[in-house]
Amino acid sequence: MADGMKRVGLLGYPLGHSLSPAFQQAALDACGIAARYELWPTPPEAVPALVASLRQPDAFGCNVTIPHKERVVGLVDEAAPAVARLGAANTLVRLAGGRLRADNTDLYGFARTLAEAGLALRSATAVVLGAGGAARAVLVALAEAGVARLIVANRHPERAARLVAALGLTGIATAAPLADAALRPWLPGAALIVNATAVGWHGDETPLDPDLLPAGAAVYDLTYRSTALLRAARARGLLALDGLRMLVYQGARSFELWTGRAAPLPVMLAAAEAALAARERAS
Ligand code: NAP
Repeated sequence: MADGMKRVGLLGYPLGHSLSPAFQQAALDACGIAARYELWPTPPEAVPALVASLRQPDAFGCNVTIPHKERVVGLVDEAAPAVARLGAANTLVRLAGGRLRADNTDLYGFARTLAEAGLALRSATAVVLGAGGAARAVLVALAEAGVARLIVANRHPERAARLVAALGLTGIATAAPLADAALRPWLPGAALIVNATAVGWHGDETPLDPDLLPAGAAVYDLTYRSTALLRAARARGLLALDGLRMLVYQGARSFELWTGRAAPLPVMLAAAEAALAARERAS
């Protein structure tokens, strides 16, 4: 940029109402870093040129979201171990000399929230609803946390089976349809139920019958709103976690990779909460 500002942004297509610009810009400003965080909606055919542009000295890198998380891995010079484990990247970082490195901070973001919640998952059973990009990070984090059994339920169950195989989790994970009848046998013994589907963003829709939530389980919904599933979990006295902290933690780790500075977490959390509240008032 001619004005000396660094640039960083979110690469995806299409891009809806992302909270990342609000909390990333707040972090850059709080640290006195002259940079702008922008939305870069980029159709598939334009992704190679956009990624190549990040080699310029004025770029920090970018976050990556659907549908480009897998595609970008083939466009960079090196990849962090998390990218190899997940087969997908959510962060690109410009290194010295214009080299590009892919990383995946979703894994860190989810794992950190699990640790903060103090859940005892070693030898436990976890039920994961969804088999998209978010479920990848969730499944790898849960496997690394030592769960003994994973049930991966998806509307298109063949996608769940493919994901289990791709992540090398066939020894502990079982694919299932996203249907109450299919989940009923597994739920009573589950210590954690994660909603990694897009169901819950609108109205009171739930990915499974809330009456099936078992006593003693924690319920984690990756959406950032108080969904009907989370409200039902709270009404039963269950630990209920939403996805806002995971979002902010993955962004904080990306910020640190781009800037080499400690992320101002309280600033980022406050900015994310304010942007979410503004979005909910507007909808
Ligand atoms: P994705 O790759 O597009 O996957 C979407 C998932 O939702 C798939 O499992 C899909 O099932 C399922 N789904 C969509 N519509 C459905 C419906 N009507 N009924 C049943 N299942 C449905 O998206 P993603 O990136 O994994 O995101 C999934 C959710 O996680 C979203 O709500 C997203 O906002 C959230 N997320 C949160 C964070 C965070 O940091 N908190 C990070 C990433 C994502 P099929 O495969 O059968 O289509």
